[in-house]
Amino acid sequence: MFEVSEKLASLSPSETLAMSQRSGELKAQGIDVINLSVGEPDFLTPDHIKLAAQKAIDENYSFYSPVSGYLSLRKAIAKKLKEENGFDYRPEQIVCSNGAKQAICNVLISIVNPGDEVIIPAPYWVSYVEMVKLAGGSSTVLTAGIEQGYKITSEQLESAITPSTKAFILCSPSNPTGAVYSREELCGFADVLSRYPEVVVISDEIYEHINYTGKHESIAQFESLADRTVIVNGVSKAYAMTGWRLGWIAAPEWIASACNKLQGQYTSGPSSIAQKAAEAAYAGSQDCVVMMRDAFCRRRDLMVSLISDIPHARVTVPDGAFYMFPDFGHYIGKTFRGREILNSADLATYLLEEAHVASVGGLAFGAPNCIRFSYALCDNDLIKAMERIKDALAKLS
Ligand code: PMP
Ligand code: GLU
Repeated sequence: MFEVSEKLASLSPSETLAMSQRSGELKAQGIDVINLSVGEPDFLTPDHIKLAAQKAIDENYSFYSPVSGYLSLRKAIAKKLKEENGFDYRPEQIVCSNGAKQAICNVLISIVNPGDEVIIPAPYWVSYVEMVKLAGGSSTVLTAGIEQGYKITSEQLESAITPSTKAFILCSPSNPTGAVYSREELCGFADVLSRYPEVVVISDEIYEHINYTGKHESIAQFESLADRTVIVNGVSKAYAMTGWRLGWIAAPEWIASACNKLQGQYTSGPSSIAQKAAEAAYAGSQDCVVMMRDAFCRRRDLMVSLISDIPHARVTVPDGAFYMFPDFGHYIGKTFRGREILNSADLATYLLEEAHVASVGGLAFGAPNCIRFSYALCDNDLIKAMERIKDALAKLS
């Protein structure tokens, strides 16, 4: 009798959060689960950021903030964009939200009409396709397999553009693959897009600072895209602040004001305390960012060697983020005690039950043969987890 709306019924739950929750439930039963599912830094939020939040509480930042965030925070973000990226944004072009997740959803809901298409390279972050559904549009998924380094080509992009294309979502460094597009590759996309001036580019740069190539390149740097690129970023990953929920967009003014209007009816401005903490993150020393990136890079090297040691695993060396995305296609179709592993979601479930390691099946990322491991954990846990996985995979026949 009681039914959720058709829109909600068509929505898939977030697989990253679901696997993390299952891992938590097993842990609560006393099982020693190693959680490589949800992607979040294992570091603590740096002290100077926590102090700024405590100060904000003492100074009574307890009232509603402006919908798009305090001007002081938006100025700090504009300064970061100028100094780190060489971009000129005015505070009116910046909208702060409850995480980059809400920021992306705001943009899609603000620009997508029924019938509009949004181009999404796969493997993709789990939420993009669902957010496009929520916005009423449809996704055009472009697949880039491991043999092309999980990166789409500009020819693929061009072949997917139709008169209904509204937006192109690019995530570099990528979740889930860790692939990073070079300046030349981005320039190729910009050349294609210069022929389609009505397509909005949503550039998800949440892993900007977890980049092992030496320099972050943003697609927003190309002149032909300047008036239609939305940069998405936030403090979750760079400053180990996932729970604080503070993300933002830097966008053309018409998109920023649309998101402001939407957010004003939907959630209002993000947490006042998180905003003051984020301001300290951007204004303060960036040593913590470098320290965390270097630790992730060392763990990346460790994970590449551990996974390369697993028979039949195909790996790429990720240039950024903190995920490994091996192709475990060899193990799909195998059985354990008469139960067949039909796809990567089954494989992730098997690894959770048999190896007590939580991961996320590639199916949710549009890559049915792959498994995602977050390596934002200490070395010992990573070594133990990969040993367990190797043993569990060896039991499949
Ligand atoms: N984009 C990507 C690619 C992500 O991995 C995440 C983390 N879940 C987000 C956006 C959202 O980040 P936030 O924690 O700021 O909502
Ligand atoms: N970025 C993380 C992940 O992909 C957080 C979980 C989520 O928001 O999906 O695991």
